[in-house]
Amino acid sequence: MVFSSNLNDRNCTYFIKDNIFDNVTKYTTDYKKVVIITDDNVHFIYKDLLNKYLPNALLFSFKPREKNKSLKIALSLIDFLVDNNISNQDLLIAFGGGVVLDLVGFVSSIYKRGITYFSIPTTLLAQVDACIGFKTAIDYKGLKNVIGSFYLPSKVFIDYTFIKTLPNRQIRNGLFEVIKMGLVYDKSLFDLLLTNNIKKELPNIINKAIVDKLEIVKQDPYDNNIRKILNYGHTIGHAIESNNRFNNILHGEAVAYGMLYETTNQEIKNKLLEIYKKIHFTLKLNVDINKLVSYIYNDKKVSDDTIIVPVVETIGRCDLINMKISEFIKMIGAR
Ligand code: ADP
Ligand code: ZN
Repeated sequence: MVFSSNLNDRNCTYFIKDNIFDNVTKYTTDYKKVVIITDDNVHFIYKDLLNKYLPNALLFSFKPREKNKSLKIALSLIDFLVDNNISNQDLLIAFGGGVVLDLVGFVSSIYKRGITYFSIPTTLLAQVDACIGFKTAIDYKGLKNVIGSFYLPSKVFIDYTFIKTLPNRQIRNGLFEVIKMGLVYDKSLFDLLLTNNIKKELPNIINKAIVDKLEIVKQDPYDNNIRKILNYGHTIGHAIESNNRFNNILHGEAVAYGMLYETTNQEIKNKLLEIYKKIHFTLKLNVDINKLVSYIYNDKKVSDDTIIVPVVETIGRCDLINMKISEFIKMIGAR
């Protein structure tokens, strides 16, 4: 399957298929030098594949973990590019999860005022979320995505077979963003998760989530209106991540708790819990909602004591409501 999206005068093509490297190499021949950026786990698992398809590419690999989505690693990547005389006519390939994609996207947007890059997402979360929507970012001073830009990869290659080597916890991590998409935008996707065998339907589920996100981003590329529905569960989710200093909790898991707190309709909450049970997610984090309030005031979405809150009253439909923070705090049951 092939889709495309635009941002200003730039275009991005999305290819969704198996054996994706057959496709990738069709397009790398246009470039004199190719740099693959990945993390050590992904490199370890897929080094033979990389050697087979891109034997002449340069390789930059760094230690996995969100804390490495840092200025330090971004600068060491830039050092590597400079030391290897990479020009802005060469190509970068981001091969990995959201950390790799966000970091490479950011460096691509600033290196010599912009270099072309391809994305090859290898986690479910990155396939349904990070690889779409041209947001690039690194974390700074303990704050998530605080330095970043909007920048389009030239091509995105999505291959479900990468998911086969992904640990179950990471698969579930991606599923929470898919559940969110169903909740705020696509009832048929939510019903599919609720009633079908998720493992069996995974390619279909990933496809639907991608098409949905492309549709939303197309309407609001710079995240000024409808795209904000994708923040569902994220105000509390981000607060939980910050409160835990990003330890022991994955992004999707924090959003899973966030969605529960941000859902006031009991019937919808029950359905959410039903899906959580189906994917064997037990709620064991002790969330002290009152402790999260200070983080909510620091949220990017907050200005002048008001916050735009995505509210779901019917599955598949989401309204954006301007609330005083005090109202939001009451809504989620905090003091
Ligand atoms: P995301 O933000 O998409 O969850 P990360 O970049 O934080 O992704 O990756 C999560 C973890 O999964 C990292 O430890 C990474 O090395 C590992 N990983 C990424 N892709 C794969 C894969 N296809 N198979 C196994 N592990 C992977
Ligand atoms: Zn998210």
